[in-house]
Amino acid sequence: MFSGVLFLGMAVYMWTPLHLYLHGYAFPNLYFRRLPMMFLAELVICALVEFETVKAIIRQEAALEAAEYANEAKTDFLANTSHEIRTPMNSILGFCELVLREEGLSDNAREYCLGIQSSGRNLLYIINDILDISKIEAGRLEIIEDDFEPEDLLKDVVNIAMARKKEKQLELIINADGRMPRKLHGDMGRIRQIIINLVTNAIKYTPNGGVYINIYVDRSEGSVLSVRVEDTGIGIRKDNLDKIFDSFQQVDTKRNRSIEGTGLGLSISRRLAGLMGGEITVESEYGVGSAFTLRVPVGIVDMEPVVGRHLYAGIQPGICTDTTALDERLRKFYDRTIYSMCNHVGMDRLEIPGNGLATREWERLTHLFIDGLVYKKHQHFIDKLPNRPEIIIIDDAYSENKLPPDKKIMYKPIFTLVVADFLNKKDKIKPVVKTPEKLRRFTAPDANVLMVDDNRINLRVESRLMEGYEMKITTASSGKEALALTEDRKYDIIFMDHMMPEMDGIETVHKMQERSGNCNSDTPIIALTANAVSGAKEMFLDNGFSDFLSKPMNMGELDEILRIYLPEEKIITEEPVK
Ligand code: ADP
Repeated sequence: MFSGVLFLGMAVYMWTPLHLYLHGYAFPNLYFRRLPMMFLAELVICALVEFETVKAIIRQEAALEAAEYANEAKTDFLANTSHEIRTPMNSILGFCELVLREEGLSDNAREYCLGIQSSGRNLLYIINDILDISKIEAGRLEIIEDDFEPEDLLKDVVNIAMARKKEKQLELIINADGRMPRKLHGDMGRIRQIIINLVTNAIKYTPNGGVYINIYVDRSEGSVLSVRVEDTGIGIRKDNLDKIFDSFQQVDTKRNRSIEGTGLGLSISRRLAGLMGGEITVESEYGVGSAFTLRVPVGIVDMEPVVGRHLYAGIQPGICTDTTALDERLRKFYDRTIYSMCNHVGMDRLEIPGNGLATREWERLTHLFIDGLVYKKHQHFIDKLPNRPEIIIIDDAYSENKLPPDKKIMYKPIFTLVVADFLNKKDKIKPVVKTPEKLRRFTAPDANVLMVDDNRINLRVESRLMEGYEMKITTASSGKEALALTEDRKYDIIFMDHMMPEMDGIETVHKMQERSGNCNSDTPIIALTANAVSGAKEMFLDNGFSDFLSKPMNMGELDEILRIYLPEEKIITEEPVK
């Protein structure tokens, strides 16, 4: 501060002779006589001015510090509250799941339970949104970049979109560019969050028709992942287009009264896109539909295209679908997708069987992907082809079609990557079968499982949910107890809660792994936690966990985790669930 005063004093001191001279004072006599007094006076004035300035700065800094502190306290409060709310919500949802599995449940009771479950899940989404927005506002939301495969991104998006669509009679049409690079670099979790939000909105605000997702990497300027989500829904009025990206802003509320939402999704999405150097744009026509486009820069790690045509030597697939009954826009969406499939997998598009059909065209195929309804109508002709290609029937997971049990069925949506995977027998993007009735299950009576959770109700619910697998389940209600149990008993899989008093899940895992002669050194440890903030998975993987399962436990995800991590020889049966 003193140096500041001195500097200012010196500046005035140097400037003053020039000032006096310019105003006609005799120079230098007068100036030098007055000099000491002037210098002193100016020094005092400067010191006073400086003192006031410093006081203002200190006040400002204190206010800023207080604001920062308040912001941090708010974020911490929200993080803690969200955890506190999530824990009992998990129990509610878990118990709901158990009630739903009870035999002889009346239709009314089932309906009420499903209502509780759906509201509970919505509440959990809202909590996550509020947490995200408060983190963004506090500047504490980090973008965590890593290598990722667009196939994984798409698989997640499709699975979640199917779960959101459920029985709603909507066409979900996906066009994924087969030329996309095999490996990209960016924050896949956040990109997925944005796409899922756009797709969820499209499904929510489209009473009938369909949703079209087009995804590709635009390499005209750098490399930009472009995702367009288009719907044939209710559309947005022109004067509302700017408002929809504001927090807590819902438009056309009279019309959308029955649609659940917080008005946070698009605000979070646009800010996340901005944090990643990207943007979201919207076009919409009221009453006709909307199209949201996300463009986000990504790095390219592996240039090899996701679908390489050279892989299909000797394979000649064909596709036959009937889109004539569809509305013009949906037909256009399907046409684009089929065109892209034909282009990237070398597929032929076939005419619907009819009189004078070129049979030879059908017989040259090795694989025929055919719409369920078309197949049923022309089964007689197709099954009689002398050189019949392998038939793959395209069906809707929720349709009531009775299809022949000996045929392969691929569930919609089908798109380039799914077909390519199937032809390659890679099975990475599995055709989506999302109805719980169609989930396959297994038992593993010899598997030893350890569940660690400080909340006894959660432990009870989780153990009950796993009952169907007939595994041997041991429970521990603290990190300390888990350490004691794992001392000399080998487990096949450990499910570990994160936030526990005294010793949390991460510390427990560190202690377990540091132990010499640890008989569970190769046991997969799955974080089972309500702390489902994005980026949490990476944090757990960095801390010695093998995978992550967010609470409330989703049975499909649990099934997948058990299938991946249990020793193969302990999985003994596989039969369709009732
Ligand atoms: P919400 O949780 O209400 O869906 P969002 O922030 O995701 O919140 O969206 C804000 C508003 O924008 C919605 O309330 C809705 O009015 C409008 N909106 C968003 N997506 C669409 C869409 N695909 N079609 C029509 N309206 C939409």
